[in-house]
Formats: sequence, C-alpha cells, structure tokens
Amino acid sequence: TPESLQAETTTVAACGYCATGCGLRLHVRDGQAVGLTPETEYPVNLGMACPKGWEALEVLAADDRATYPLLRDADGEMKRVDWDTALTTFTERFKSIQSQHGNDSVAFLSTGQIPCEEMAFLGALAKFGMGMLHGDGNTRQCMATAVTAYKESFGFDSPPYTYDDFQQSDCMVFVGANPCIGHPIMWERVLRNPNSPEIIVLDPRRTETAMAATQHLQLRPKHDLAILYAITQHLIASDLIDHEYVAAHTTGFETLAEHVASFTPDVVGPAAGITADAIRRAAESIGQADAASLWWTMGVNQSYQGTRTAQAMINIALITGNIGRPGTGANSITGQCNAMGSRLWSNTTNLFGHHKFESAEDRERVARILDIDVDRIPDQGSWSYDRIVEGIRRDEIKGLWVIATNPAHSWIHQGDFKELLDKLDFLVVQDMYASTETAQHADLLLPAAGWGEKEGTFINSERRYGLLKKVRKAPGEALADFQIFRGIAAYWGVESMFADWTHPEAVFEKMQAASEGRPCDISGIQGYRQIDQSGGIQWPWTRQDAASNDVPPQQRRLFADGTFYHSDGNARLIVDAVAAMPEPPDSEYPILLMSGRGTVSQWHTQTRTSKSKVLRKLYPQRPYVEIHPTDASLIGVRNGDTVSVRSRRGEIFVTAMVTPTVQRNQAFIPMHYDVTNQLTLSHFDPHSRQPSYKDCAVAITKV
Ligand code: SF4
Repeated sequence: TPESLQAETTTVAACGYCATGCGLRLHVRDGQAVGLTPETEYPVNLGMACPKGWEALEVLAADDRATYPLLRDADGEMKRVDWDTALTTFTERFKSIQSQHGNDSVAFLSTGQIPCEEMAFLGALAKFGMGMLHGDGNTRQCMATAVTAYKESFGFDSPPYTYDDFQQSDCMVFVGANPCIGHPIMWERVLRNPNSPEIIVLDPRRTETAMAATQHLQLRPKHDLAILYAITQHLIASDLIDHEYVAAHTTGFETLAEHVASFTPDVVGPAAGITADAIRRAAESIGQADAASLWWTMGVNQSYQGTRTAQAMINIALITGNIGRPGTGANSITGQCNAMGSRLWSNTTNLFGHHKFESAEDRERVARILDIDVDRIPDQGSWSYDRIVEGIRRDEIKGLWVIATNPAHSWIHQGDFKELLDKLDFLVVQDMYASTETAQHADLLLPAAGWGEKEGTFINSERRYGLLKKVRKAPGEALADFQIFRGIAAYWGVESMFADWTHPEAVFEKMQAASEGRPCDISGIQGYRQIDQSGGIQWPWTRQDAASNDVPPQQRRLFADGTFYHSDGNARLIVDAVAAMPEPPDSEYPILLMSGRGTVSQWHTQTRTSKSKVLRKLYPQRPYVEIHPTDASLIGVRNGDTVSVRSRRGEIFVTAMVTPTVQRNQAFIPMHYDVTNQLTLSHFDPHSRQPSYKDCAVAITKV
C-alpha cells in the first residue's frame, strides 16, 4: 500500500515491457518511485500485472547501468568521456563517413521500446537533419508481417480489436500464439470470458495455451497456412459463409474459393500431421459461432510465409462476417510496449504517421506540419533491416547507430551479424545498459534513461495511447533519449530545425497534426492530461469524437460499418501458393528447431529482466532445449544431460529438457538465451522481410 511504502504520492504509468500496456501505479517518495502496484482502474489490466511488470523498478537499479558515455580508445579499451566529447565524436565520425561514402553510408537501428515522441525525433533527426536514408526498427523482427498483412488486406495497418473482445468471443482461434506466458494479462481476460468459449490452438508444441484449449491442432511446423486454407475450404463447402458481408465488403471471394478448393481437410490433415476431422471440427466451430475471433503472434509473423498466413486468418474472419462486432476480428497481438508506435511514428519505411515517402503530396504535408524544407525529406523509404545488414556486408553501410535494441543477441544467424558489426568503421550504441552483447562491439556508448526515468506515450496492441511517466532520476549522467537527440541536433548543426521539439508533449502535438484526417487520427485528444485521466485512449480519436463524446474511448473496435481503408471501401481476400520450407530436416540435420518465448518472467534478450533476482529465480539461467522423449532415448539422452545442438551455422551446448510438449523430430529453445540465434537461418518473409526464426534444421547429440 502507499502507506507501507511511506509514499507521498502515486501516479499511473503504462508498463514498458510488452504491448499489453498494463497500467502500473507508482508510489513516489522524495521524487523517486519506491514501489508499484497494478492499477485496478486501468481498463487494460484491471488490477493485474505479470512478474515483469511487478519487477519493473528493480531492474532500473542494476549495477551495469550505463551511467556515463564511453569511447573506445586506440588500445581498444572503452574509456569514460564527457558528453561534449561523446557528441563531438559522434558528429565528426559520422560526418566524416558521410563525406567519404555518401549520406546513405550511415544508418540506424531502432526499437519498439522507446516512446512515440522519441521515435519520431530519432527518425526526423536521422533522416531530415543528418541526411540518412536507411534506418529500421527491431519491430522488423516481430511485427512487420502483421503490418504488411493489414496494409494489403485492409488498406491501412490497423489491428481492429479491443481487449474486451477477449471476454466477448464464443470461439477464439490462436495461431502461433502462447498468450498464457507471452501475454498473460490478455490470457487472464480470456479466462474471464463468461461464454465458456471454444478455444482452438494451432501450434506444433503443446504449449501452456494449447493445454488449456478445447481443440489443439498440433500440426507439423509450417503447415499452418495449408490448414487455414483447409478450414476456409470447409467453411465454403459447408456454406458457413456470410454471403451478404462478403458481397458488400470484400473483393476476391471467387479467387479465394478457387484457390482453396484443392485444400480439402482430407488432403491437408494427414500431410499436416492431424486428422481431417480436426480441421472440419475447427472450421465448424468458427462458422457456427456468433462471435469468432482469430489471434496470432510470432508463430505466424516470424515465418517465411507469415504475411500470407496472417492474411489467411483475415480471410476467415471476413468471409464469416467476424469483424467489426464484439468478440470478433483477425487480431495481431503485438510484442513490444511500443511496437505499435514504431509502426506509425518511426520514420523508417513509412513517413511520419504512416504517410508515404514516395508521395510528393505526403512529403509536402509532413514538411508543412514539421515546418521543415520539403527537400530534406527523402522520396523513398528505408531499406528493411535485413538489407541494412547486407549493406554492411557490401561495404555500403560504414557507420551504424543502434538505439535501445540488442541485435548481437537477437538478430538471426548471430555469428554472421557479429562479424558484420566489427566490420563497421564506427558503431554507436545508445542504451540503458553497458553490458549488452551489442554494446560490447560499440566504439561509442551513449548512456540512456529507461522506462520510469522519462516521459512520452506508448501505443499498445489495441491501439491505446498510454503514458510513460518520469518517476525516477536516471543514474549518473544518463539522459533520456529525447535529450540525447536534442544534443545531437545541436552538435550536428540542425538545432534550428528542432527548435520547438523542446519536450515530448510538443512532439505529441505534431503527431496529432500529422494524424488528422487519417485512419490513425488522434487530433481529438486533449493532451497528455486526457490520456492520463482516461486510462489511455485508443486511436482513432478525432476532433469529432471528442466533440460528440458518445463513444467511450476504452471500448472501440474498427470496421463496425464494414468500410475498410482501400479506396473502394472493400477489404481484399488475398491468397498465395504454399511455400516450401527453406531448410527442411534431412539425414544430417534431422530435427526442426523452433525458438520463441520461453517464460512469463523474461523479456526478449534479458537485458533488463536478468537484473531482477526474482525474475532470474523464475527461469533457468542455463539454456535448455526441449526434446521429445523418443528422440532423447534414441540418442541416449536423459533429462538434465548436456547436449550439443548443431546447425549449419553453429553449435551450442545446452541442457536437455526431455518433454512430450514437442513432437518427434522437433525441438524448441527459448529466444531469451544469447546462444539461440547462433543456430538460426537467415531467411525472410518475401513481403514483410521479417526473419523466419522458427525453422532451422539441427542435429542433437549427447555430449
Ligand atoms: Fe507489463 Fe506486459 Fe506484464 Fe502487463 S503483461 S505487466 S504490460 S510485461
């Protein structure tokens, strides 16, 4: 309680880990947060938090916080320097590279972990101020597929749902998603659903969510697209289609029906390792439900055919009329706390507010709103992340600025990526922690404040703007990323361009102006104060919404009237051939390795969560591989033995966890361990350029 903490005041802020966006009440004494409790009145989490949220303050006090700038000296040692030296070096080195090799030879890699206003500042500074063309976010690793799928199907990147839908569905389909541990507060909302919903899980693993499902389609990996097409085929064959909705609001039904005709359950089921009846039963559950919803996360997004798989789910929602009503939707669950903000405001592949770099009209509008010379806005978007990485290999990218992300741990085919980092002429890492795998390679480290030490807004999975609050002083000389960007603007000589970018809320006002009249319109929000008082506000929230005030901001879903963002108002039904697995298991590498979230208590590369004693206790610190009992006995491995896991890219030594949750000839290693991506394969979805993390062939042997 506030009393036991002897807090003087409390305030509510959005959590800074995952895209659920829980509200946490921070208890503050002498200007410093001394404790937190999940906020009971916040419409997202209703008084709940997962272990990461509970420990959010603990990790700010870690020993390895970056507290002052570090610069690598001639002997290769990182030495403390002052901010003047750091920013002078930053400017001189990057300008020197640009003058020798062109402006595009310096790029940035950003994140879904900083607030919208900092993302907007970073993108504007790097591109309009420093003249860079290329910069992408680590959201390429988690959400790019959903973005592409929605843009093509709906005409705008627009997850249509609100969290109340978890409690209003009577049939819920989770594909490649394990919300029990990945999004536990959302899962709690599912458990509060009074309809006793049918819960259908498509997952090769018997995950915690699959164990709680009423139907688990335990398919062979990467057969999800074929099964979704088979479900579609059976829906059509059984006439479980909303013909009126299809005719009024979609384009492409005949092509869809023709495409899926050969994907009968009898053909697809045995190939996918499940029965035809299981597919038929799932289809009928969806088709006969009053309100069916389909949900996906990384099992779909991180796939070489992710975009088409997501669109197969969107197709099912559309042809059954399950969209725009309570409890429905084809719903991508986002990963990071501000991945949704990155999608709108990062100025990477899209221009400020999902405008198009390629459109002269859009460039002029953004230039007018930001009061900058339109010629400073490039007429093309950035290379995607993987192309930036390839640009380093080809000597086209010589300088790199990495902000609040740890790609030396998380990028696919890690060994190759680390070698490329060392090939750079100059690498700047801007981070809260000096010890990340990426920071180890830096030439210059800029110490950044973290969640709780600065202000701004995050957008959660249901499009809700939540507020980040400053309730702690950052340690040492660490600065908010926003202040670092202001400093760089001054040293670079473009301070006047950002003269009125004085504080995050001033940037928020620019975001509001840029959003006006667009699907993501937030022009009606009355500043941070209204976000704070409302428990967050979902986009869109227009001036008209604000004036009429007859729609509560907490309960909004898109497409209630069946009008989508394509010029004719119709959604597109998109289908494609099923792609071949890039590296199928063979006699030398007979096991298919999947990676993913392994626990509720760790976050991504463990940069923050490993600093909490409690969170460490909740998760084995030694990496492990899940392996099926039969496979284990064939190689003489028992639970707890050390095994070698070898792919064509590397070999790691981990503990065997013998468990039937994985099927025969499959294995699973959590992504949180720094060794996992030594094995993974550089392969990407061709539409979204998202890495395919969950399908590399390995051999496992006893050590
Ligand atoms: Fe934070 Fe996500 Fe946990 Fe909520 S579920 S407390 S947003 S990490």
